[in-house]
Amino acid sequence: MSQRILVTGGAGFIGSHTCVALAAAGYVPVILDNLCNSDVRVLERLHQITGSTLQFIQGDVRDAALLARVFAETPFAAAIHFAGLKAVGDSVSDPLAYYDTNVGGSLMLASAMRDAGVNTLIFSSSATVYGEPEHSPIPEDAALRPASPYGRSKLMVEQALVDLYRSQPGWRIALLRYFNPVGAHESGLIGEHPHGKPNNLMPFVCQVAVGQRDKLQIHGGDYPTPDGTGVRDYVHVMDLAEGHVAALKHAEIQSSLVTLNLGTGQGASVLEVVRAFERASGRPLPFEIGPRRPGDVPAYWGDPSLAQATLGWRARRSLDQMCADSWRWQQRNPEGYR
Ligand code: NAD
Ligand code: UDP
Repeated sequence: MSQRILVTGGAGFIGSHTCVALAAAGYVPVILDNLCNSDVRVLERLHQITGSTLQFIQGDVRDAALLARVFAETPFAAAIHFAGLKAVGDSVSDPLAYYDTNVGGSLMLASAMRDAGVNTLIFSSSATVYGEPEHSPIPEDAALRPASPYGRSKLMVEQALVDLYRSQPGWRIALLRYFNPVGAHESGLIGEHPHGKPNNLMPFVCQVAVGQRDKLQIHGGDYPTPDGTGVRDYVHVMDLAEGHVAALKHAEIQSSLVTLNLGTGQGASVLEVVRAFERASGRPLPFEIGPRRPGDVPAYWGDPSLAQATLGWRARRSLDQMCADSWRWQQRNPEGYR
């Protein structure tokens, strides 16, 4: 019988793509999401891609009674925990909301799993736990100095899960530190559609390309990088999604706790992203170079070699493909799922 996987936050950007990868690998994803940052119409799109109707539970991961019921009703093999809040700036203005959802929600989920005897958990962590790194590529044992409440909420959950694993080594836990997820499923049916003005580079670039915004503001052109603009490790969301499947398969074989970077191992500058997007869309992307964004790190990228050695996983899709897939999604869905 196919294994059921509880996917919290499965209606969101990374979660929805991971549901596709799970279904392709023969798992049965069950989504639990309160839709605070997603749209229920993603389910219809997931149906179109996977050919099956995914079970959806609308609810909050902090709701202990709901979680107890969900685990009592379905024999889950594992949970992948995406549900959380992710805007760094909002976490500075409303830290309690971030600790409540990200830390409180994760503890609630882990408790419900313990009570139900489900001991495989894949957690969405972030490269923001490193803060400003001393050098790149960043290995997993680099210093952890998150610079925002968001980053600290991720680190707190990592630490709680390490302590949980030490207390009961039967757990199978993967702490996955994502670098910069971008792109969309190649069908153009699912993708990222932030509410309001995007903070992140790729959704902003997409909205400029489709004519919803005049031009991209590049935050700083005087960084100590080859072209002066900020450098990040952009990773295709389907590569990330497949990384979760690889982490699940690893957990099936071995009881362990692994902490792994999921990135490409290569940095790209803002201008390189702009040029790649122009190639993908076949149109010029208006931009202007403005001041640096407060709190931005000039450049960093991850060392994904441990993920490759442990999971046999590596990111395969290029920056050009990330841009082509983002563009296809944006062009076909300028208003997201609306
Ligand atoms: P997203 O906002 O698209 O998805 C998160 C989903 O969780 C949304 O569908 C939202 O409705 C849901 N959710 C939020 N709070 C909830 C709650 N209390 N109960 C139930 N559902 C809830 O974000 P994403 O980009 O898909 O990110 C998924 C995870 O990966 C998050 O934990 C995020 O912190 C982490 N992450 C994201 C990035 C990134 O750049 N996108 C980078 C590193 C880590
Ligand atoms: N960036 C930019 N203009 C934007 C958004 C982002 O120049 O409108 C830059 C930002 O300064 C950084 C890179 O793009 O160098 C990636 O930013 P993003 O917010 O996507 O990711 P993060 O900084 O959180 O890694």
